[in-house]
Amino acid sequence: MNRTRVVVIGAGIIGAACARELAVAGFDVLVLDRAGAAAATTSHGEGNILVSDKGPGPELELAQLSRQLWPEVLAAVGENSAGVEWDPKGGIVVATTAEGAEGLRRFAATQRAAGVRAEAMDSDALTAAEPFLTERRTAAVYYPDDAQVQPAGAATALLADALRAGARLRTGREVRGAVVRGGRLTALRTADGPVAADVFVNAAGPWSGEVARRLGVPLDIRPRRGEVLVTTPLPPTVFHKVYDADYVGAVGSGAGDLQTSAVVESTRAGSVLLGSSRRRVGFDDRLRPEVLSAIAAKALRLFPSLAGVHVMRAYGGFRPYVPDHLPVIGADPRLPGLWHATGHEGAGIGLSVGTARLVREMLTDRQTAIDASPFRVDRPAVLGSDTGTDAPDAPEEES
Ligand SMILES: Cc1cc2nc3c(=O)[nH]c(=O)nc-3n(C[C@H](O)[C@H](O)[C@H](O)COP(=O)(O)OP(=O)(O)OC[C@H]3O[C@@H](n4cnc5c(N)ncnc54)[C@H](O)[C@@H]3O)c2cc1C
Repeated sequence: MNRTRVVVIGAGIIGAACARELAVAGFDVLVLDRAGAAAATTSHGEGNILVSDKGPGPELELAQLSRQLWPEVLAAVGENSAGVEWDPKGGIVVATTAEGAEGLRRFAATQRAAGVRAEAMDSDALTAAEPFLTERRTAAVYYPDDAQVQPAGAATALLADALRAGARLRTGREVRGAVVRGGRLTALRTADGPVAADVFVNAAGPWSGEVARRLGVPLDIRPRRGEVLVTTPLPPTVFHKVYDADYVGAVGSGAGDLQTSAVVESTRAGSVLLGSSRRRVGFDDRLRPEVLSAIAAKALRLFPSLAGVHVMRAYGGFRPYVPDHLPVIGADPRLPGLWHATGHEGAGIGLSVGTARLVREMLTDRQTAIDASPFRVDRPAVLGSDTGTDAPDAPEEES
């Protein structure tokens, strides 16, 4: 039997999840990455799997689907999942002002109506759950379904399982252009020659726009910089994912200037991650002291006891940002053969397994688990004219 050949461009968490889902479903899968597995954004962020920061709508539905799939996928991955550090610890969102409390209560009520478990906490319950949290809090909501993984560990586990299911991985292979026959994408140009397949999935994260441009079809995916601080291992100090209620506003905002909000969580090794910032500065990867200091100041507002702890390192990455804050998942109607699975901004770790499920369902003409039409490629936010790149190269047509 001839199996459908799929090339996945990108070995980050999205490419890894798609490769696994498709290989397990019987597709002949090849993953290409210009660097290595989990070499880019996936290893430059945090590993929050959140339903708490999403209001009712398509992204929340994808988050709910993904949250439901994660334990199932990890059970199927089995022994390869050791490095994933799955921790369904739950999240606590804390407001520190009267206005913030009001906003948080309203937001949680809309989420409950959409099926999210969101439980108001009184001050005693909050102290019991997070004894080192600031006394200056005005409201808190507990989200039992928030969880955490080690993102690079999760991506490599998914990829390892894809390889076990028959997928192949080629690193050091940069996609440079398209071979188009009869209006259909039939191969990718690389320095080592063309790579042919029936279907190509663009999962190149913040570089997906550039990959699409090289294939002749512009896509408005932009980098949105974010930084994180990592403390030295501490005695137990932070027990859930704890973040400031203003984080939701920062996530939903499209502002290009610096935004920071406190997202604090401990890791299995004892380090505490202090995140995070959001800036639109192109692919400028310089760490800025003023950004790191703003992140630290916000974290201290939530956990004053962190004052004086040692920061071991800081790092940053580029979230794949789409102006309407929705991922892009599906076939590209402008170039048959090309699919996209990208644009997950600050939620790609959490949303990866749901995205992969949708790609598989659409590729096999199945009813999708949730309505995938809001993620379609031909929506104005994605095909917008301001792609931040030069005019696209015309795809090379071969007869
Ligand atoms: C500071 C920060 C904190 C974050 N925190 C969270 C969080 O808590 N929870 C969460 O869910 N998400 C979080 N994110 C977002 C998450 O990290 C991303 O959404 C996710 O990693 C995107 O994965 P990806 O596979 O699409 O992209 P990437 O991981 O960037 O993978 C893309 C791959 O494509 C390859 N590639 C690019 N161009 C080419 C080419 N021409 N040819 C071949 N290969 C190519 C690259 O080498 C790379 O390996 C955070 C991000 C940042 C920056």
